[in-house]
Amino acid sequence: MVASTPLLAATKSLAAIPVPMVKPRPPRLLMLDAGHGGRDPGAIGRSGTYEKHVTLDLARRMADILSGKPGVTVKLTRDDDVFLPLEERVRISRDAHADLFMSVHADSAPNESAHGLSVYTLSPKASDNFAQHLADSENSADMAGGLDLPPADKDVTAILTDLTARHTRNTALHARASFVDMVGKNWHLLDNPMRAANFVVLRAPDVPSMLVETGFLSNPHDEAILRQPEERARIARIMAHDLATILDSPLFA
Ligand SMILES: [Zn+2]
Repeated sequence: MVASTPLLAATKSLAAIPVPMVKPRPPRLLMLDAGHGGRDPGAIGRSGTYEKHVTLDLARRMADILSGKPGVTVKLTRDDDVFLPLEERVRISRDAHADLFMSVHADSAPNESAHGLSVYTLSPKASDNFAQHLADSENSADMAGGLDLPPADKDVTAILTDLTARHTRNTALHARASFVDMVGKNWHLLDNPMRAANFVVLRAPDVPSMLVETGFLSNPHDEAILRQPEERARIARIMAHDLATILDSPLFA
């Protein structure tokens, strides 16, 4: 018979302490925003592809893929061919307390040879002239709906100096870096794929927000890819998988 030692006694009494239940982490909410819609077609490719249709199809596919994954809930800002003002998209994302917002696009570039995927975060100053041009053209979407543009730079500067907003922005920057890194392993990227510009739709001070240009409809090669349902399914799968990984990472702990 083994003599009872203080250590054994201590072990026994430890074993008697009930292990606290580990609370399952609530699912992270991803808000997917299909760019454009309704009277705002977005970019139109040479073969007649409408950006608003590509973005909605990609957002729906991503939502479908992610609906089967534990740990992630997905909502769409629009699930129809409707016009939605940019600030309304921001409001929907904030009201839902989204953990991450991603606006999905496939715009046109002044340089027809520009092709590949790129991701934008908010900045009062664009990363280059092209980014500036793109943000101007995206922001003018609200004018297509007969709305005035919200004041730009003053608001954005205030947003970016606020403490909560700084945390939000840092999270967005890290999410952008991880996303580009992962997507780049399986999909073609634009040169300098991590970009920044003053997009109205990225201005939520409390929801990390990114805008993905999945490709450019002004580029015949990109348009040919984005026209094909199989290719859209492929890029949707890649993006959905990578977003789920990011939402499950310590960045969103
Ligand atoms: Zn767009």
